[in-house]
Amino acid sequence: MTTNINFFKKELKNWYKKNRRSFEWRDSNNPWKILLIETLSQQTQIDRADEFYKKFIKKYPTPKDMAKDSKKEVLKLWSGLGYNNRAIRLHESSKILLKYSFDELYPDFTILPGVGPYTNSAILSFAYKKKIIAVDTNIKRIIKRFFRIDNVDVFLKKNTDLLLKNFNSRDFNQGLMDLGATLCTSRNPKCEICPLELSCQKYIVQENKTSKKFEGSMRQKRGRVLKILLLEKGVTKQRLSKELEITSKITEEVIESLMKDGLISISRNKVIVINDN
Ligand code: SF4
Repeated sequence: MTTNINFFKKELKNWYKKNRRSFEWRDSNNPWKILLIETLSQQTQIDRADEFYKKFIKKYPTPKDMAKDSKKEVLKLWSGLGYNNRAIRLHESSKILLKYSFDELYPDFTILPGVGPYTNSAILSFAYKKKIIAVDTNIKRIIKRFFRIDNVDVFLKKNTDLLLKNFNSRDFNQGLMDLGATLCTSRNPKCEICPLELSCQKYIVQENKTSKKFEGSMRQKRGRVLKILLLEKGVTKQRLSKELEITSKITEEVIESLMKDGLISISRNKVIVINDN
């Protein structure tokens, strides 16, 4: 096993040196930048997340800049990226960061809405140089395939020290993210040009991933309603049904789902507005 781990590390290190994708936040140790990019890149391809990152960091270089702005403005900048809950959580986090700095929260940032074990590890590794593996689906997939193991968590618990020995954790994590995004992809991995191919067990288990259709989905309807509300102060339910060409029952469902997430509210005269606080 040790020989395999050494091979894995050596090849990954060399490959990453030559093939690393360049992004402004990659070399940063600013935890706000890391939180921003990690939030933007959830369920979003990294190149697209990076386009939004540039807009966000320009407008909100610090948590304070975002906290003093309204939720509506943050949502406006987020518009087009989808999964708007992420924007709401980011805005809430910025307000918490007004009271407690990252350094004060260190090493546990999970008090920030939307920060789970993965993002916590990413902040620790990239901003605080902690020897930690930020385990996301890419990293799990590669480890599983290369070492032919079913329980990646148990494997990592046992081998993290060895994997990160003489290996900067930022390079290790980002190297695997890049490898997972370009070569060891979930479908059709490019084993023939992969640097790990010689010793890889190629334990490729068909991932049971059903890609949900976006067209006509609740997610699409939610996005369209928000888009309308971001441009206007408030609209009636009837108007939304008409714009979206959906029944009043479905309109009610969309509204209920957005209200549940705190994205909209209804005023007394039944006009729907974005919560602006
Ligand atoms: S050889 Fe294939 S399965 Fe193994 S790590 Fe590379 S791309 Fe993934």
